[in-house]
Amino acid sequence: MGNPLGFLETDRREASYRPVEQRLGDFEAVEIPLTEEEVVEQAGRCMDCGTPFCHGCGCPLNNLIPEINDRVYHGRWKAALDLLLSTNNFPEFTARVCPALCEGSCVLGLGHQAVTIRQVELAVIEHAFRTGIIRARPPAERRSQAVAVIGSGPAGLAVADTLNRRGFPVTVFDNAARPGGILRYGIPDFKLEKSVVERRIRLMEDEGIRFEMGVRVGRDVSCHFLRSRFAALCFSGGARTPRDLRVPGRELKGIYFAMEYLVQQNRVLAGEWPIGSSRIDAAGKRVVIIGGGDTGADCLGTALRQGAAEVTQLEILPEPPRQRAEHTPWPMWPHMLRESSSHKEGGLRRWSVTVKGFGGADGHVREAFGVEVEWKPVGEGATPTMTERAGSDFTLPADLVLLAMGFVGAGRDPVLEELGACFDGRGLVRRDAAGMTDAPGVFVAGDMAQGASLVVRAIADGRRVAEGIARYLEAGGSDEGVRHEAAAEREAGMR
Ligand SMILES: Cc1cc2nc3c(=O)[nH]c(=O)nc-3n(C[C@H](O)[C@H](O)[C@H](O)COP(=O)(O)OP(=O)(O)OC[C@H]3O[C@@H](n4cnc5c(N)ncnc54)[C@H](O)[C@@H]3O)c2cc1C
Ligand code: SF4
Repeated sequence: MGNPLGFLETDRREASYRPVEQRLGDFEAVEIPLTEEEVVEQAGRCMDCGTPFCHGCGCPLNNLIPEINDRVYHGRWKAALDLLLSTNNFPEFTARVCPALCEGSCVLGLGHQAVTIRQVELAVIEHAFRTGIIRARPPAERRSQAVAVIGSGPAGLAVADTLNRRGFPVTVFDNAARPGGILRYGIPDFKLEKSVVERRIRLMEDEGIRFEMGVRVGRDVSCHFLRSRFAALCFSGGARTPRDLRVPGRELKGIYFAMEYLVQQNRVLAGEWPIGSSRIDAAGKRVVIIGGGDTGADCLGTALRQGAAEVTQLEILPEPPRQRAEHTPWPMWPHMLRESSSHKEGGLRRWSVTVKGFGGADGHVREAFGVEVEWKPVGEGATPTMTERAGSDFTLPADLVLLAMGFVGAGRDPVLEELGACFDGRGLVRRDAAGMTDAPGVFVAGDMAQGASLVVRAIADGRRVAEGIARYLEAGGSDEGVRHEAAAEREAGMR
């Protein structure tokens, strides 16, 4: 335990943010992390609980939080890094975008305010990059069984990194221009600078992982190609099928899925959007975002930066309470009102409303027709019923509508079906405890198997599935694998 009196002497200190008027003028990171001195003091608030719920119940990666806090408090940054990397492949991602599930179950949060665990994690990994203690560590020995990972989001990257460290040659395929999945094409730059993603990809390349970008598996490479060259395949293609709003007027121009909008803005900033091609631009427009979650908040921050005239974010559920709701007692993740950095920048949030249709002129959306709704409990454990509030209809001016109502799964993947994988009733790929689908040697990880979730859960799942793949290969699961180098030589003929 760093400082036995720390939790009594020191208050929780949050990271700060760049002034709103400044950050709305660019897409750079909005958060100003705590200084290392502040982080050391904050780490001293950790009580080193006998049963650390943050570690076992909060963090899906089971980060060794009290031990890391102790090392940081004593200035043992390298020791803290080693502990952090023993459970988390990419702390620089989670430390920026994780909602900090751990902090919701911090014991100190019962009577005081939780330890700033995410900020400690950020300080440890950034200290390591800044001082050069983190560097490429290629495996000492290479095995012969090569693995193909399809999808370079956090799940696929975690699978690749974990297997590479165990000596398996790994090639990552992705149809996007650059690796990262939603980390790169989805999460706005103001939450996660893409230089952070690039820094990690360079490190992984230096450690021997191959990235084959611009390759859609099923179109550019066949199942036969993958099966013949790799001893195991891991699909981590995400869950990108968006929930649609099937109401009159949906066909009007100016109504887009959130991901069409967010990915485009990422690509514009990366210089990947072809000059002169049309864009979804909120400048001067009245924007309506349908969906009150994080993706909607990312649309809000993006629209404000593009110069929207006004932005309204609509949510069908009631406004959550300001404090932890009774039905999510500690150490559960608290159901309560959350404000992202984008909500502090502008826009209006409306709760308990739904949209029943759109009106337009000349084929373009101009209005959204909404109504207020009421949620009535129907009994213990049952889903409340929703009814429209009579006479509460309203019309919102809308030149641009963004649908951010979540994702319904991965969608049926013909490649996986051809390989012999099966899907469950929710559209997710069926797999066993090791992550293997109904097709021997074909694994699945991340949102594709779990449904749309969080970066931390994608990494945790990727690590678990990588262990399953390693066990499968070590048990001689396949004798068809060929050496990575041989696959590389044949690369020219694969597209
Ligand atoms: C807008 C947005 C913001 C988010 N913000 C946060 C946040 O702040 N914090 C947080 O914790 N979580 C956030 N999430 C959730 C989080 O990003 C996802 O849970 C996570 O990225 C899932 O990782 P994944 O690796 O399973 O899939 P993805 O990140 O979706 O990556 C899948 C990859 O597979 C590739 N692919 C798919 N099919 C093929 C194919 N046939 N051939 C080749 N490549 C293929 C895709 O191009 C993509 O690169 C956000 C999600 C969205 C949509
Ligand atoms: S990954 Fe997320 S839940 Fe785990 S320790 Fe870091 S901030 Fe907390």
